[in-house]
Amino acid sequence: MQAAESPRSRSPSDNAKRHDEGRCSECTLLSRKLRLCITCAVKAGVLKHNDDKKDFVLNVENNDIEVAFQRAKKNAICRDCALDGVQHEGHKTMQLKRLEMLNNAF
Ligand SMILES: [Zn+2]
Ligand SMILES: [Zn+2]
Repeated sequence: MQAAESPRSRSPSDNAKRHDEGRCSECTLLSRKLRLCITCAVKAGVLKHNDDKKDFVLNVENNDIEVAFQRAKKNAICRDCALDGVQHEGHKTMQLKRLEMLNNAF
C-alpha cells in the first residue's frame, strides 16, 4: 500500500489561468482581486465600449483574446490603488473577473 503523496510543486500554468490574480501595476503588491481602471484602460486602448453588451469589453486584436487579457493585466491595479489612487480619482474601475465573464473567455 502506498500513501497518496501529492506533489508539492505546482505548475506555473495554474497561475496563468487566474486572470484576476497578479501584481498591481502601480504599487506592485500582489492582489487576488485585480481591478482595471476603465477610464485609463480605454485611453490605453485596452478596453472599448461594446454597444451590444452596453458594457466595456477587451479591445481584442487578431482574435487573440489571451493577448488582450495580458495587456489588461499589465494595466491592472489593486483595490487600494483603485480606491485611493489620486490618479484614478473619479475614474470607474471594474474587476478583472467581471471582464473575464463579459468576454466569455473561458
Ligand atoms: Zn496597488
Ligand atoms: Zn484611471
